[in-house]
Amino acid sequence: MVLVFAETQKGKLKKAAFEAVTYGYRTAQALGSECVALVIGAAEDAGQLGKYGASKVYQVEDPALEKFDSQTYTRAIAGAAKELDAKVLVLSHSTTGKSLLGRLAARLDAGSVPGVNAVPTTDGGFKVRKPVFSGKAIAEMEIKTDVKVLSLMGNAIQPEVVGDNVGVEALSVPVEAGRITVKDVERVEGTVPLPEAELVVSAGRGMKGPENWGIIEELAEVLGATTACSRPVADTGWRPHHEHVGQTGIAIRPNLYIAAGISGAIQHLAGVNNSKTIVVINKDPDAPFFKAADYGVVGDLFEVVPRLTEALKKFKA
Ligand code: FAD
Repeated sequence: MVLVFAETQKGKLKKAAFEAVTYGYRTAQALGSECVALVIGAAEDAGQLGKYGASKVYQVEDPALEKFDSQTYTRAIAGAAKELDAKVLVLSHSTTGKSLLGRLAARLDAGSVPGVNAVPTTDGGFKVRKPVFSGKAIAEMEIKTDVKVLSLMGNAIQPEVVGDNVGVEALSVPVEAGRITVKDVERVEGTVPLPEAELVVSAGRGMKGPENWGIIEELAEVLGATTACSRPVADTGWRPHHEHVGQTGIAIRPNLYIAAGISGAIQHLAGVNNSKTIVVINKDPDAPFFKAADYGVVGDLFEVVPRLTEALKKFKA
């Protein structure tokens, strides 16, 4: 059986959950097996996972699982995998998934591969593929253990409807809340973290200085986007390091990446070229970024960005 951990946010399934279930369903087909999904906590739309190939959705609820904690979630998911005798466990390659993968693999005595981007092949061994060297090459890996744990890269698989809603069944697994060693003291609501953001507005040295970032933040706010930056911008302290995207920063895969005043150096592209749609704003028509762009605006960002923000405000009104 293939078990998919379907991530939720504020009581609803994330887009990544539908991608993971489509992936799990295709993996189950390749193995001649069944795909089931697991949700933790309340998820009003959990039954929808049936449309994407889950023959059943299990739900684990426990007060100890109200807030995400990788130790408790590991116990719950590993407990479900054992209970259901799952042979393949699929996670999303999100912040959550990344923090669970190693722990789950250790608990289940499983071989694991993070960040896969293609459905496994199963003739001649269970083989998965993942991009390596900033996407310049694809590695094929065989997992030989009985139980396998994978995390699926965002945007690698388009969710596909193959059936109907299914019922959601409660599953009881030991969470061992008494063994929790990390206490969640405070959570601060912020924007969506970069690795999971669907919309990103990013800026580079063309901004001239940190005092000008207001126009980027305003555009991001209108779109509901997360802000990012090029490396020199973070290195010089104009923006915090957690916003730095690229080869040495965070690699992202949003649906929309808007880059203003960024030249498009290869090290920057390495972290953003898997974005679905790239919009580049640069005053230099020969800026390399235009070659990777779906849409380009040759112009002064200090004029273009505020005009774009105003146009979006009118569009939303
Ligand atoms: P610049 O190259 O200075 O480009 C600024 C751009 O803004 C120009 O294209 C200019 O035409 C445009 N501009 C200026 N004024 C305006 C205006 N008013 N309106 C519109 N456009 C304007 N970089 C990363 O980003 N991420 C990484 O992870 C990363 N890793 C690296 C790893 C290594 C080993 C090395 C050697 C480098 C790495 N770099 C990385 C740095 C990278 O090579 C580039 O130097 C960097 O991306 C350039 O940043 P930038 O585009 O903001 O600045």
